[in-house]
Amino acid sequence: MSSSLPKEIHEAQQIATDAMDGDKANGDFVDFNDKKTYLLAIPLHGEKSVVGSLMIVQNAGYIDSRLTEIWQNNLIRLFIQIFLIAIAVMLVIRWLIFKPIRNLAESLKSARTGNSASNKFLANSLLFQPLTKEISNIQRSLREARIAVSEEARVSLEKLDSPWTAERLKQFTKDILKDRTIVVVSNREPYIHTKNGNKIGYYFPASGMVTAIEPVMQATGGTWVAHGSGDADRLVVDKNDTIQVPPNDSKYTLKRVWLTEEEEQGYYYGFSNEALYPLCLMAHTRPIFSQEDYEQYKKVNRKFAQTILAEIKYLKKPIVFVQDFHFALLPRMIKNARPDATIGLFWHIPWVSAESFSICPQKKEILDGMLGADLIGFHTQLHCNNFIETVGRELESLIDFEQFTVTRNEHVSLIKPFPVGIAFSNNTEQVSVTEEEILGRKKLLKTLGIDTKYIGIGVDRLDYTKGILERIKGIELFLAKYPAFRGEVTFIQIAPPSKSKIKKYQEFAQAVEQEVDRVNSQFGIKNWKPIVLIEKLHTHDELNQYYRIADLCLVTSLHDGMNLVAKEFVAARNDEKGVLILSQFTGAAKELKDALIVNPYSGEQTAEAIYTALNMSSSEQTKRMKKLRSSIRNNNIYRWSAEFLKTMVSRG
Ligand code: UDP
Repeated sequence: MSSSLPKEIHEAQQIATDAMDGDKANGDFVDFNDKKTYLLAIPLHGEKSVVGSLMIVQNAGYIDSRLTEIWQNNLIRLFIQIFLIAIAVMLVIRWLIFKPIRNLAESLKSARTGNSASNKFLANSLLFQPLTKEISNIQRSLREARIAVSEEARVSLEKLDSPWTAERLKQFTKDILKDRTIVVVSNREPYIHTKNGNKIGYYFPASGMVTAIEPVMQATGGTWVAHGSGDADRLVVDKNDTIQVPPNDSKYTLKRVWLTEEEEQGYYYGFSNEALYPLCLMAHTRPIFSQEDYEQYKKVNRKFAQTILAEIKYLKKPIVFVQDFHFALLPRMIKNARPDATIGLFWHIPWVSAESFSICPQKKEILDGMLGADLIGFHTQLHCNNFIETVGRELESLIDFEQFTVTRNEHVSLIKPFPVGIAFSNNTEQVSVTEEEILGRKKLLKTLGIDTKYIGIGVDRLDYTKGILERIKGIELFLAKYPAFRGEVTFIQIAPPSKSKIKKYQEFAQAVEQEVDRVNSQFGIKNWKPIVLIEKLHTHDELNQYYRIADLCLVTSLHDGMNLVAKEFVAARNDEKGVLILSQFTGAAKELKDALIVNPYSGEQTAEAIYTALNMSSSEQTKRMKKLRSSIRNNNIYRWSAEFLKTMVSRG
């Protein structure tokens, strides 16, 4: 026994005995003097049997202290790791969730308060990327709603004003223009001189643009530059190619620009009417883009630009008011030569979505040309929105959605809706149909060889966007569903020829004639037929007579910037009778909410609307007509031009 061991270890005996009995090594831990000790007994052999055992005693206290040490270390490590992981998780949550949520809240708040610069908060967040687009859409809707509300508020405030009249516009223009001169430019001229045997006559074309601008020019004076398209136009102008108009009542100067046949073909029939017109009107007629036509379009825009620049050469800060899609390139050409000129462009047809416009191969040049204007007007807010989105998609520019402006090469263009109206400012008194008009109606029906109780009227250029074929289908369905009305109602369709040099238009005119014949032979009886088609240009006075004797007016355009016929029908009805059936795809439908609004693509809807109109009580007709008339009185052409000119002048 080693000297350092105590004399007696109780457990030792047992361990040694078990080792000898079992003849194999045996060991165990024991507590000894508060110390952990390991005892190991190994049997010792004599010659034949186990004779004793050797016991090795080892101090095992170090095991516990190592274990304690290991536990302590591991616990400390564990705590440090938990701490680090917690911090990392907090940072990750903060970066990936808290911050984007805070930005999301910020964006929503900005959208609510109308701050347009808010989406940058979300732009870099992967997590919220799907939401960014949605929030942009919400922002845009809110912005549009805000503009609509402020426009409505402004309109209702101005409604308190006395109505706009030619006289008021004249005074107003004098006040705001002071000594500045206004030059209007359009393709179509307001008076077209033609030869009739040895005599020279003139006519006023069927054009919403001309109907809108002419009363303004009569009120404001100035110069109107347009294409001289009449075969006697050259015979009546002076050496500067100008003529005072209206004939016999000079109020302003008409300056005519001459085009060669080749120019007219490429610029007018080609790029304007086979490319831009179907592109913007989207009535499912495929636009034809020809670079050759576009070259002519460019050439004619340049020709007009030179004429205008010569006209304004000695004028200080002139005002140039450009009309319509024939002159998309003109504003830039004039702005580059005369940066001091204030240029307005009014686009009389709709503007389609950025997606639809993107098919135009010359889109960038067209947009850049338009952005030479200081003010670009459309009929509706939707067309403005579409235009801004198109610019955003196609051109490098800075768009301010708050102000609705586009800045390109440091020039700012304001985009704004100006729903065009007609020259209507009469008093509010109700005037019944006169004896004379009743006689006139009888005489007219006699001339047409028709005996009928009700009259429906339609007045449209023979143009595929006007939904004339769809209207005929609606009439057919109406007569098929309500046979009691056969022999009772006739629809007079006035359809002066339009752009008849274009093949599409020739085909369209033929299709209309065939459809009218088909429906007439299906339902016609002696002294009565459902449709009378008159393919002839009428004066406004003649149209007025039709409007006044009609029980209903059908406007079923597939797409239309405004549609002035709808407004003219309402204006003519100072007896407060008659029903307007109006396509939802016209600009006019946004204002004339008391019309019977239809989707012209559905013949059934048109048929039902005809039925409703013919069964509408007299009091209901008056109720609706009063509201329609109040709307067109408040938003007449004098007010339209006053607002356009005021906005233009405020820009430079
Ligand atoms: N118009 C006319 N004579 C006719 C047919 C139509 O003077 O025989 C006029 C109509 O009175 C209206 C214009 O042409 O002022 C058509 O304008 P709208 O906006 O309805 O259509 P647009 O022809 O401009 O597409």
